[in-house]
Parts: sequence; structure tokens; C-alpha cells
Amino acid sequence: MKKETKCVHSGSYVDPNTKGINTPIFTSSVFEYLDSDKQPYPRYFNTPNQEVVVRKLCDLEDAEDGILFSSGMAAVSTTMFALVQQGDHVILQDELYGGTHAFVAHQFERLGIEFSFVPTDAKEITKAITDKTKLIFVETPTNPLLSIMDLHKVAQIGKGNNIITVIDNTFASPINQNPLQLGIDVVIHSGTKYLGGHSDICCGIALTRKNIANRIKKTALNFGGSLNATTCSLLERSLKTLSLRVERQTENAAKVAAFLDNHSAIKQVYYPGLKSHDGHDLAKSQMHGFGAMTTFELASNTLNSLDFLRNLQLIKPALSLGGIESTICSPAMTSHRKMSAAERERIGVTDGLLRLSIGIEHSDDLIVDLEQALSV
Ligand SMILES: *Cc1c(COP(=O)(O)O)cnc(C)c1O
Repeated sequence: MKKETKCVHSGSYVDPNTKGINTPIFTSSVFEYLDSDKQPYPRYFNTPNQEVVVRKLCDLEDAEDGILFSSGMAAVSTTMFALVQQGDHVILQDELYGGTHAFVAHQFERLGIEFSFVPTDAKEITKAITDKTKLIFVETPTNPLLSIMDLHKVAQIGKGNNIITVIDNTFASPINQNPLQLGIDVVIHSGTKYLGGHSDICCGIALTRKNIANRIKKTALNFGGSLNATTCSLLERSLKTLSLRVERQTENAAKVAAFLDNHSAIKQVYYPGLKSHDGHDLAKSQMHGFGAMTTFELASNTLNSLDFLRNLQLIKPALSLGGIESTICSPAMTSHRKMSAAERERIGVTDGLLRLSIGIEHSDDLIVDLEQALSV
């Protein structure tokens, strides 16, 4: 089946009594155990509502099994703790989601796990490998500059050195990129973003082969970051429109990026779909679509980013991303504010840089809003 069909039908639970079209919400945390070989319990990651969502996402990412968590960070942290231990070494990209960066920086040293941050370049990963390296963690497209990492090469490096490879695939979503098909071992999503898509739930998932999933599940039982039935149900409902939403968002993003690219008040646009983007060819070869995130830098002398954000009437200055409504934020003022100005400058996160998450509004309306905010 194609993805559009999987979004609607995969994993569906049919209630034998009513034959209702939708999965009922099983609010029970307690299930009778006589005459049943299975004991569902929310923290065992095996309730009907959890399993329905996992099956749908397994189909969308070509995974054998998955573990559904109460946040993206629960998925990231539990997966890493399940796959490495004291004395091991982990290689991570330095352009990572801020929460993942902070998790590694705050927790690993204390637990005796070694780590190296490397630039978004597969050659840099090879250079950083030691005989203790057990895990490679990448993210592509990256936040906020949408750099592209070569997933084929990362997968080869992992296989050649017996190192597990993990990707945070949140920005692409399963509609625009399927890393397991390229040989990556584990895919993680913050479901809070495109999977949920309506800016109203928090969740995360790790998707992989059966044997790795079993290792993650074992650790997850101890850490306990499982997802409740009501949120599972909201997520299942959201996933039915995932391909519709992300395809429209991606189309809109291409149009908005082209508009920004031609505007004199914009210094630079970072969108993998633009030929001028460093990672364009690579993105074309490993993604099905270029995604719905667009980052750009104002030509600053005339307009500062705060004034620009206040001028916007339709696009909302807000953190987070992936919702049906377009949102925009200044990484220098939000996700990267704790870095020094010099460090921000070094990695390209300037004060005039803005990260735009494109929604499903009509692209003409988004462009009109950007145009008026740039010319006030
Ligand atoms: C938001 C996000 C996360 C963390 O997800 P939460 O659901 O907020 O815990 C991880 N990775 C990326 C790329 C994200 O955008």
C-alpha cells in the first residue's frame, strides 16, 4: 500500500462487538488476567491504543517494531540509555535539537559515557570513531539551518564498524524521509511536531528492528515514559491526515522559500529545495520531499528581527513546529539563547536568522503576510 492509504488504514483496531470504524479509547490501566495470555499495562507499552499507533508508524517507516513515548525527549533519552553504557563512546552531530544537545551535555559525563560532537559531514564521523564507539546519532535536515547529512554514508559507517546508527527524523516526518530504507538502524520522531500536527499533544516514538526494539523496550519499562490512551487516540486520529498535511505544507514551503529568495530585504534563505542550498543534491537523493521548514536571514540594516516578528499578522511567533498553522521563531532569542553571541555566529545562528514552520494555510496568504511585514 502507498503511504496515503497506510495513514488511514494501517494498524486499525476493529471492536468485535460494535464494528465501529474507530479504535475505542481503552481507559483501563487494569486488565483481568485469568484466561488471557497477555497482560496489558500502560507502562508495559502494550495497551491496545498504544499498539494501534505503533503499527501505523511501523508501516509508515518500514520498521518491525516501535516504542511509543510520552515525549520526543523520552524517546531520545530512553533509546540512548538502552543502547549504551558506562565506558562507551557516542558520536553526535553538533547541529542537534537543543534538548538532545542538553541531554547529552548534562547526563553523559556524570554516567561515564564519552561523547564527541562533530560537524554535519559523514567524514567527520569516521574521524571521531574510537574502539569504544557504540552509537552514532544524527539529525537531518538540521535545526535551524536545515543542513543535510548523507544517510547512506552514515549507515555504511555504522555497519562497517559495528556501531548502531540512530536518526532524529522529526523535521522530515515519515512522509518526506524514510531512513530505515537507507540502512539506518533506529528512527526517532518527536510526535509533538508533524505526527501530532495540531500543536496540542506531546509524544515521541522510536522505530527499528525487532531485536533493537526489544532492548529499548526493556529499558523503557524501567524508565516508564509511556503514553496515555487519550493522547494515543488523538495521535492516531492525527496520523490519518499526516500525508495530506505534510504534502501541502511541503508545497507551501517551496513557494514561500522561492518568494523569500527573491526578496531584497532577505539576505539568505536556507531551504533544501533551493538549488542554492548546500545540501540540495543530497536532499534530492535521500528525501521524498524537501520538507516544510524554511529558515532565512533578514538583511538586517533596515529591519530587526523582533520588529519583523511583531509586524506579522497571520504567521505566529511561537516555539515548536510542525503544526497546521504557520509559526516562526528566532533561534538566537529562543533555542540558542544560552549560547554566547560568538558561538552563535560561528554556527551561523545570527540575530537576524528566523526559522519558519509552514502550515496548511494558502501559500498566497502566507506570502502576503511576509511581504507586508518586510515592508512596514
Ligand atoms: C521537539 C523536538 C524534539 C523533542 O521532542 P519533545 O516532544 O518536545 O520532547 C526532538 N527532536 C526534534 C528535532 C524536535 O524538533
